[in-house]
Amino acid sequence: MRLPIYLDYAATTPVDPQVARVLSQYLTQDGVFGNPSSSTHAFGHDAARAVAIARERVAALLGAATREIVWTSGATESNNLAIRGVMRACARRGRHLITAKTEHKAVLDVCRQMEREGCTVTWLDPDPDGLIPPERLAAALRPDTVLVSLMHVNNETGVAQDLAALADVTRRHEVWLHVDAAQSAGKLPIDVCKLPIDLLSLSAHKLYGPKGIGALYVRQHPRRVRLEPLLYGGGQEWGLRAGTLPTHQIVAMGEACHIAQAQMSSEQTHIRTLRDRLWRALVALGGVLLNGHPEHNLAGILNVSFEGIAAEALLAAIPDIALSTGSACTSAGSEPSHVLRALGCDEYRARGAVRFSLGRFTTTAEIDHCIEAVGAAVIRLRGLSPLWESWTSPQGTVDRAMAHGT
Ligand SMILES: *Cc1c(COP(=O)(O)O)cnc(C)c1O
Repeated sequence: MRLPIYLDYAATTPVDPQVARVLSQYLTQDGVFGNPSSSTHAFGHDAARAVAIARERVAALLGAATREIVWTSGATESNNLAIRGVMRACARRGRHLITAKTEHKAVLDVCRQMEREGCTVTWLDPDPDGLIPPERLAAALRPDTVLVSLMHVNNETGVAQDLAALADVTRRHEVWLHVDAAQSAGKLPIDVCKLPIDLLSLSAHKLYGPKGIGALYVRQHPRRVRLEPLLYGGGQEWGLRAGTLPTHQIVAMGEACHIAQAQMSSEQTHIRTLRDRLWRALVALGGVLLNGHPEHNLAGILNVSFEGIAAEALLAAIPDIALSTGSACTSAGSEPSHVLRALGCDEYRARGAVRFSLGRFTTTAEIDHCIEAVGAAVIRLRGLSPLWESWTSPQGTVDRAMAHGT
């Protein structure tokens, strides 16, 4: 077993070796290095063919048509293109947009910018288990609502929204639905033939592909989503995303999606078995709380709070294990996670939250090592903490509740 152990698959995944092999064949002189837009010679044709096959593979993962897949640099750009693109193209129809407080920064920050540009945003509160009730979405709709942007799987808690129920609301009211599926694509089935999702963001590096490449699904049937581009230039991607296509990245993303689709169910079974093993062992420590939903979740993400322990202290005590507190993008700041606060967690619980995220290459031996290390650290840290004794006493519980007005 190699140390340190990587349990931060929600931040990024290693590139699958097969994907790396394919990628390397699209760079050098003896590989396919042409510009896919070069229509005057075989170098360009070979590259264009490779891009077309990759597009088919990404489309197949979603049940989409190839014409509905637009290459981007990742889910951040896909989210920007979806939200800004629709709000600008539909400005005359309305300027209201709905999202949730638990979204990734790559959605929240775009929506905040849209507010500065004159749009109105409704920020939905989830239930304490992380789910957005469809009735709450329906109640937030207005005559000038144009777009709803909600994620599929939350990157911090792993909570999986009921997309069928949410899409039913947006379809009935004829507003566009954008879904950030960066954490779920290739892990949970998504079928845009069955679900009336209009736009969907993907990122290759969350599904064992390289960083810096992603895609946006843009519905063409029965109603075509109109978008204004973010970039202007060579007119690639039907004018929606200018710039020379990065063939090697695109081919790698296609390969990654192809593998993910083939292995999805067996891989999720493997990950769920390991996650359950980890969760049972953590619960046995006592004073361990699950942040998220016990059933509607992605197996690979387990977010827990250890009562009486700050997440940073726990992570520092187990340097052999790569974990995350909250999300990687916000962990530089000292603010407790906006996602956990939106779930109604008090500050202690939010500051004690640790995210274990498992993936394709996680082994039973790694999980057992993690269980041992975390168990020992939790017992030691609680033993050192003068707070822990009062925390667990009946009076401590009362003091804590009073301090937080609960
Ligand atoms: C990782 C992630 C993103 C950002 O994706 P990039 O490809 O890194 O830009 C957006 N949304 C969610 C839910 C994510 O997990």
